[in-house]
Amino acid sequence: MAQDTSSSRSGTAAVKIELADVRKTFTTEGHGTLDVLKGVTAEILDKEFVALIGPSGCGKSTLLNIVAGLLAPTSGRVLLDGQEVRGPGAERGMVFQQDAILMWRKVLGNVEYGLELRGVPKEERRRIAMEYIRLVGLEQFRDFFPKELSGGMRKRCQIAAVFANNPEVLLMDEPFGSLDYPTKVTLQEEVLKIWAREQKTTLFVTHDVEEALFLADRVFVVQQGRIATIVPVPFARPRQAGIRALPEFRDLLVELWAYLSERA
Ligand code: ADP
Ligand code: MG
Repeated sequence: MAQDTSSSRSGTAAVKIELADVRKTFTTEGHGTLDVLKGVTAEILDKEFVALIGPSGCGKSTLLNIVAGLLAPTSGRVLLDGQEVRGPGAERGMVFQQDAILMWRKVLGNVEYGLELRGVPKEERRRIAMEYIRLVGLEQFRDFFPKELSGGMRKRCQIAAVFANNPEVLLMDEPFGSLDYPTKVTLQEEVLKIWAREQKTTLFVTHDVEEALFLADRVFVVQQGRIATIVPVPFARPRQAGIRALPEFRDLLVELWAYLSERA
């Protein structure tokens, strides 16, 4: 498949994730069957940042959960490095919209948790956890419980916890959906900073077109159960908050809004 890539990606990058005619039908109680995904086919390149946008209920979370291996497709396949995904795996880290955080553990304990599960020795675990806690700016809060943090800080903690596990692929499902605009914008910049440093393949679901354009190399638009349009994002990296004001950025925003409003 021919790939449109942004200026920051080489056209010869390897395919990391392949979505091959992924379909998902839900059988509901009393509402018949629901064909949510009707043949999603796409390739995500190694180290690429792809944003997945679409109106609420179009199947974004369903698709992400299938890539995560938390949900099986009705038919079709997801390939990761050419291998079919058949369940969750440590090489895929997920950040959910809701607070997926252990309330009885402090920040440090939360970020160490995955490393602990994998049997990483205590000192090593602490060193890695502290590195990511620092990276998300929470070092002064390492001994705070989640309930003592703001929503934005809890999100930072989750991001640190996911990155500390060193996944190859990062799956984010509207992670900033519940945050106020300034916090969201700050976290978007922080995610880009960490992403640039760590070079993870990222699939980021959002219904926020501006967020998608600020973050991604390419934006996949989900319509009618398929990826109907792929929009390459031409802005050079590193990206500063101010690019949102560029006429080219506004033009792309308008283009993407139009796709979203064309839904039946
Ligand atoms: P999005 O994340 O784009 O808002 P979802 O993937 O969560 O959308 O849901 C897509 C559609 O699938 C919705 O209509 C939703 O009601 C339906 N759906 C999701 N999960 C289930 C399920 N487990 N059982 C039945 N229907 C579901
Ligand atoms: Mg969703």
